[in-house]
Amino acid sequence: MPKPVAQSVVLALDQGTTSSRALVFDADGHVLSVAQRELPQIYPHPGWVEQDPEVIWATQLATAREAMASAGVAAIDVAAIGITNQRETTVVWERATGRPIANAIVWQDRRTAGLCERLQAEGHADAIQQRTGLVIDAYFSGTKVRWILDHVDGAQARAERGELAFGTVDAWLVWKLTGGRVHVTDASNASRTMLFDIRQRAWSDALCEIVGVPRALLPTVVPSGGIAAECDPAIFGAAIPIAGIAGDQQAALFGQRCTVPGRVKNTYGTGCFMLMHTGDRVPTSRHRLLGTLAWQRDGRTEYALEGSVFVAGAAIQWLRDGLGLIATAPEVEALARSVPDTDGVYFVPAFTGLGAPHWDPHARGTICGISRGTTRAHLARAALEAIAFQTADILDCMRADAGIPLSDLRVDGGATRNDLLMQFQADLLGVPVTRAKKPESTALGAAFLAGRAVGVWTDDAQLDALWQAERTFEPEMARDRVEAITAKWHRAVERAKGWGEA
Ligand code: ADP
Repeated sequence: MPKPVAQSVVLALDQGTTSSRALVFDADGHVLSVAQRELPQIYPHPGWVEQDPEVIWATQLATAREAMASAGVAAIDVAAIGITNQRETTVVWERATGRPIANAIVWQDRRTAGLCERLQAEGHADAIQQRTGLVIDAYFSGTKVRWILDHVDGAQARAERGELAFGTVDAWLVWKLTGGRVHVTDASNASRTMLFDIRQRAWSDALCEIVGVPRALLPTVVPSGGIAAECDPAIFGAAIPIAGIAGDQQAALFGQRCTVPGRVKNTYGTGCFMLMHTGDRVPTSRHRLLGTLAWQRDGRTEYALEGSVFVAGAAIQWLRDGLGLIATAPEVEALARSVPDTDGVYFVPAFTGLGAPHWDPHARGTICGISRGTTRAHLARAALEAIAFQTADILDCMRADAGIPLSDLRVDGGATRNDLLMQFQADLLGVPVTRAKKPESTALGAAFLAGRAVGVWTDDAQLDALWQAERTFEPEMARDRVEAITAKWHRAVERAKGWGEA
């Protein structure tokens, strides 16, 4: 007898930076329905990015209802809800009314850069890195909370009296889904606040003191996989357990089944986000990569190393919008294929500086090796290769930091549709690059965490079996050629460094 639908459908809420999405998955991991709403961004000043928390909730709720309706499922049919979310985005609200006291400060917002410089100057970098795995940066939630307490009238005193609650977007959604009964966040989201000790797996009093965040604001930390709460029955018509919560990159790692040390996923979008699973060891990086908690479940905590490329698909957008070389991003592949190689052209798209492992905010975009014979096709090919070179540079740091060899690379995101890029990536890395059949790794990861916790899947091996490769790219290029072009790439990177310095 097949299982009744009541036990086999999982609702994933995928609350991203630019949209709220909801997907209904069946027990085979198939997507039965998807609903999506755009999320408006608010830019009050240069460098500031906000969102309205009520709109985050309203769009998420609307998509959940829409996805359930179009899949033809009612609340009693849904075994569990899994939540995955844009990370670090910070909400502070009143416990009594559930009303936010300010707009959400989005992860991209740089307004607390000055505060971060002060923390750095006061010598807190080591304490923060040792406890959280993070480098001091405006990206993380802690200083965003501090900013709200400093700039909203009476907020500090109210926070100390326990009248306010802080949460990243997962916590905010759980609060709303439970009608304000439950204030929790999962361990992966907590690990992005700069307040959470990833070794002790607890909020750190010392860090709260350093950053200036009263403990009374903080949510209870729950496992990423496990029943965290039940929805208020008024919302969907029946109570549904919320059984999986993870930040978007961690959820994608789980969805891609990177659950053994050394396995890496890379998401190729506007930028690239890479995570390497490092098992139950807390990774420390000598290259200023981030150590982060991957997930907590079944009484175990697993960790990952994280690195990102600032400009990846954005370089292709620049070819399209800045240079007008192509009309659409996918056209770049045919153009790049029209030449056998870049003919010695190297493009370093350091538009906003360089991240790991170079860490030079003054680097600027540079094109080296142009000759009379250089054409737009060579530039297109060099732009694609740059995405792969930058990825390889970070993966080299990860291999060294983790002391674990890379077994393969699992990929997702818009730019992975480019076969030329994927082949070149495999060539550079010398390991297979595998594109997943199911493109929705992030939502799938949230569904897997939730469904596994309530018994839709009773064994991790079942999840592994649901992950399927769409295509694997095997390395083909001779290693001496890889070494030669990589050395040339690094020479081009050296020329890009420091250019923007006054
Ligand atoms: P994001 O989630 O960051 O918006 P997506 O996963 O939707 O990104 O991917 C879009 C990015 O991928 C864009 O930057 C675009 O330039 C790039 N892109 C899309 N298709 C291709 C392609 N065929 N080859 C290379 N880059 C592409």
